[in-house]
Amino acid sequence: MLSPISMTEKTQYYLELEQNSGAQNYHPVPVVLNRGQGVFVWDVDGKKYFDFLSGYSAVNQGHCHPVIVKAFIEQSQKLTLTSRAFHSDLLGEFAKYITDYFGYDKVLPMNTGAEGIETAIKLCRKWAYEVKGVEENKAVIIVCNGNFHGRTSTIISFSSDPNAKRNFGPYMPGFISIPYNDRSALANALQDKNVAGFLVEPIQGEAGVVVPDEGYIADAKELCEEANVLFIADEIQTGLARTGKMLACDHENVRPDILVLGKALSGGMMPVSVVLCNDEIMMTIKPGEHGSTYGGNPLACKVSMTALRVLQDENMAENAATMGKLLRNKLQSLQSKHIAAIRGKGLLNAIVIQHAHKDAAWELCLELKENGLLAKPTHGDKIRLAPPLIITKEQIDESVEIISKSLKVLD
Ligand code: PLP
Repeated sequence: MLSPISMTEKTQYYLELEQNSGAQNYHPVPVVLNRGQGVFVWDVDGKKYFDFLSGYSAVNQGHCHPVIVKAFIEQSQKLTLTSRAFHSDLLGEFAKYITDYFGYDKVLPMNTGAEGIETAIKLCRKWAYEVKGVEENKAVIIVCNGNFHGRTSTIISFSSDPNAKRNFGPYMPGFISIPYNDRSALANALQDKNVAGFLVEPIQGEAGVVVPDEGYIADAKELCEEANVLFIADEIQTGLARTGKMLACDHENVRPDILVLGKALSGGMMPVSVVLCNDEIMMTIKPGEHGSTYGGNPLACKVSMTALRVLQDENMAENAATMGKLLRNKLQSLQSKHIAAIRGKGLLNAIVIQHAHKDAAWELCLELKENGLLAKPTHGDKIRLAPPLIITKEQIDESVEIISKSLKVLD
């Protein structure tokens, strides 16, 4: 089954550099990239690949989108960082643009997704004490088993992944975890009067693209409303047209009380995240109580407005919906004995591999790489298939041919 990994001297050189001097906190596919354009990336030997990970959905608009690159270059030659000690001419413009775009009173900009989640947690707790009237230090946030919200010490405190937690304790209290996609578990947990928020991914991406039953998100929102609890949507991976709508919550016409976005907010150019909510929640945070040196910097503001405009101008949500359907249908028609399930929405998809060998999904990813397509297993037996949203029908056809051919390595 195993094909030997072909590795050129150049690739070997870069891998060794990383191995020798970099922390070993990732287990990457052994390919070294130095160029990207649209749905493609190239390695140091000039070999071209379809990118079916899209920087974990940060590159929804395609690699080095020319319109976003232009905005990046122009702004980087003008002003990149003021800190929040002073105003810039772009923060207000960005705030108006993004709050109009998503329909909220206010935005709080940060950098990484994890910082966005931290911000949402702090806002939720503040709101609980100062608006809802929860007793000091008693606020509880409900999360779901199998969640992935980032890697800070607070966030890993409520992770169910032992790798994320082992030997990183003591853990932050104030979270309870319930089964995902379980309406009655949520209803039950909401009985506690100290519950301030429900933090949820509309589709669990890292868990292997776990799509909840239709109606779950709408029901969860309704239950939260009844209990006077904030519905906090982590759309860092599912948002920004990835699932075939601008937000995954849009599939069920749900408007989260707190919305967290990141990743594709800059089209893969730089870390930008935001938290959006209305005044009743946002205005609980006062000057000095939260912030970040780079949060809301003018370069990020310009790049984000452009990245959002590009998503709309190029109808990327519609393309994601159409191409996603096509991708799942074509994968289904392969009728491979090695595929146990194909699931997803829009262009956030996964195949679940069925094989006696526990590393089969990894082996398949190595073979996909040999054949010109990059993807990475998540949680062992699942492979996420999430290309940039500009992918065309012909490119889907070609990609599925590569997947079909590569599956033979598991025979
Ligand atoms: N939330 C979700 C749903 C994610 O998928 C991720 C990253 O994969 C994060 C939060 C964390 O984002 P970041 O890696 O930018 O901190």
